[in-house]
Amino acid sequence: LTDFPYSNILVLGLAKSGTAAADILLDNERNVRINDMHANESDEIVAELKSKGAEVILGTHPLHVLDGMDIVVKNPGIPYENAIVAEAMAREIPIITEVELAGQLADGEMVAITGSNGKTTTTTLTSEMLAKSNLPVKVAGNIGMVATEVAQTVAKDESLVLELSSFQLLGIQKFKPRIAVLLNIFEAHLDYHKTIENYMEAKFNIFRNQTDEDYLVYNADDAMIVKAVENAASQKVPFSVTKRLDDGAWLDEAFLYFRDEKVMPLSDIVLVGEHNLENILAAIAAAKLRGATNDGIYEVLTTFAGVKHRLEFVGNIHQRLFYNDSKATNMLATQKALAAFKQPVILLAGGLDRGNDFDSLLPYLQYVKSMVVFGQTAEKLKEVGMKAGVKSVISAINVEDAVEKAYKTSMEKDVILLSPACASWDQYKTFEERGDMFIQAVHRLK
Ligand code: ADP
Repeated sequence: LTDFPYSNILVLGLAKSGTAAADILLDNERNVRINDMHANESDEIVAELKSKGAEVILGTHPLHVLDGMDIVVKNPGIPYENAIVAEAMAREIPIITEVELAGQLADGEMVAITGSNGKTTTTTLTSEMLAKSNLPVKVAGNIGMVATEVAQTVAKDESLVLELSSFQLLGIQKFKPRIAVLLNIFEAHLDYHKTIENYMEAKFNIFRNQTDEDYLVYNADDAMIVKAVENAASQKVPFSVTKRLDDGAWLDEAFLYFRDEKVMPLSDIVLVGEHNLENILAAIAAAKLRGATNDGIYEVLTTFAGVKHRLEFVGNIHQRLFYNDSKATNMLATQKALAAFKQPVILLAGGLDRGNDFDSLLPYLQYVKSMVVFGQTAEKLKEVGMKAGVKSVISAINVEDAVEKAYKTSMEKDVILLSPACASWDQYKTFEERGDMFIQAVHRLK
């Protein structure tokens, strides 16, 4: 951490990222103070950090924890309205997230990926393309492994592919990826960022420190992004699903291209969904810039069936095609999933009732021949199905029951799609648990 001129550091929030940050700072002989609302003195990790010399303040957020501190490492989930964070800003103490530390620790070449949607898919595709091209690569960030932990283990010439949320990107100073990927910007997460401007600023931080030695892969079909990257110092590498490009990644009816090179035929891609073509092109651009081969890319795109629970192809059982899109916890995601199919679909939907109606699904139900509905929103979804003229709308107790009922009414070549348009918490702990139940029920049909 030679480039990190701070001795006294407050780590705010002791989740996975805070723990890793504190640990690394202690190893680098910094004075570390930890403040967390929820951790307990009896937690093993607290004892461990204390034994390494950390000062630990738990259960309250008194403002005096800032006294004598040079910088704050904030958990990305803690809002800037938090009293300590606000006070730190008032005292002009810099606030970073753990990503800034990761950037300083990584010896290899960072590929950082952000956007409102598609981050996990693109991150997975990019790293797989490098791996299948026999290039050394590690993955971290929002996708699971803590960035600082992995960053320490990255060798020179190795790629570190990072999935970054806007919350993480808000807290950077010098963070500078070799390749930045900017996928799209939708008006999401506004409750945290207050305005779309703040939210965009956070995303644009991904290329803020780049120079002309670095690359910026960006969505040339997104007007806001095109405008924002105009003045970037980086070498710009666009991708587009709508037009032929001289540079970057693009497609026609038959092939995927990088610059003027044919990468592979479109029809060999396993992943479904128009939106995934954007993620695929972004991944190709990033991976090619790191030296991926067309063979490596081909191997990934002819086998990769989707990130778990995200329009994931589960299998072909007795000529029915099962897809698990349990991550679709809102209507927008379910619209995307429905738009991916041009053949008869049996839609499994329902879950937590947030008080909204489901009318915005209406235009997307044209290929849906049956719906199986469950959970708190079952009745509302039933109404929408009838309005749209869906031939049969069936009630089920839960996802498992819905799979059996859907199978009973299905015919060969039907798509049976779990894309609930609702959160899972009325019946399941998480959308992952809901998706796992779906997968298990599908496999029981064998
Ligand atoms: P993230 O990690 O950003 O949440 P994921 O790759 O996990 O994104 O995909 C989550 C959901 O977002 C998908 O199931 C799909 O509905 C939607 N999505 C994915 N990629 C895109 C894209 N490029 N444009 C619009 N929506 C997308």
